[in-house]
Amino acid sequence: MKKLVFGIDIGGTNTAFGLVDETGEIFGESAISTKSYMRYDDYPRYIEDLAKAMKTLMNGVNFNFELVGIGVGAPNANYYKGTVEIPSNMWKYSEEQVAAGMKEEDRIFHFADDLGKHFAGTPVYITNDANAATIGEMVYGGAKGMKNFIMITLGTGVGSGFVANGEMIYGHDGFAGEFGHVVVERGGRECGCGRKGCLEAYTSANGIKRTAFELLATMNDPSPIREYSFDQLDSAMLSQFAAKGDAIAKECFRLTGQKLGYALADAVTITSPEAIFIFGGLAKAGDLIFDPIKWYMEENMLITFKNKVKVLPSELQNKNAAILGASALVWQAQ
Ligand SMILES: [Zn+2]
Repeated sequence: MKKLVFGIDIGGTNTAFGLVDETGEIFGESAISTKSYMRYDDYPRYIEDLAKAMKTLMNGVNFNFELVGIGVGAPNANYYKGTVEIPSNMWKYSEEQVAAGMKEEDRIFHFADDLGKHFAGTPVYITNDANAATIGEMVYGGAKGMKNFIMITLGTGVGSGFVANGEMIYGHDGFAGEFGHVVVERGGRECGCGRKGCLEAYTSANGIKRTAFELLATMNDPSPIREYSFDQLDSAMLSQFAAKGDAIAKECFRLTGQKLGYALADAVTITSPEAIFIFGGLAKAGDLIFDPIKWYMEENMLITFKNKVKVLPSELQNKNAAILGASALVWQAQ
């Protein structure tokens, strides 16, 4: 009988899921809203409705199959404990609950157990979205057969996953691989984590825009960027302007690639990867971002590792990477 697994991607707006086979082919996809279950008290109903929607999707498949497992990618997920811990954008306390003394550190959801109850006997694996993308690359993408590589996801945040000796590094507590919060400039830009100078403050979707606006202040060149507000601008527009030769946009990509390239050279000294994969919106800028990343990485590279490490775009870039990554958790655990 054909074997399928569920891949579930929990985002702040939607929860998307699909049934996936071992080759990465998706047999049916669906989604429910995450946003309409934002309160702490909504969580049990969210689990029930998600399970119901998953079963509806299963019933729609017109051949017999065995459900082997369920893989979940979610923010603040702990692979070891099967929990989602203190997520910043969902299942939040009401003002009354806060006033009644309910503590932030107790806002822990036993997601794997809670969802698993609806699928008796089917194992549920959960990890954060960047780790899921990493395992997706390993099972279905360009890292197939690689034992040592690094995955960098450039989006609203900067995520990462480290694979060493063929295994995902989860670390002592399950939260390893927070490369986005490596400090690349002491006392630099304020980061969402409350510290200063993190890589994420320079190379996330907002980070590159912050660079663009700094350059508007320090460079004299005329530029179409000057016509836009911070909220109107995005990295896709910056790559269009750069491709047309706009000096400020080009400088913006050079500086972003420099920050990332220098930081990656440091990461290489720790795990000696065969390759580094880049995933996410900014990676779509192609050579505009890859050229400076590679150049500055090599410039800062310890001689032992010079010209040995490939920097590649993720092969899941234009596929349903979030669902595939989550589903890959199950195949990897087999
Ligand atoms: Zn940070």
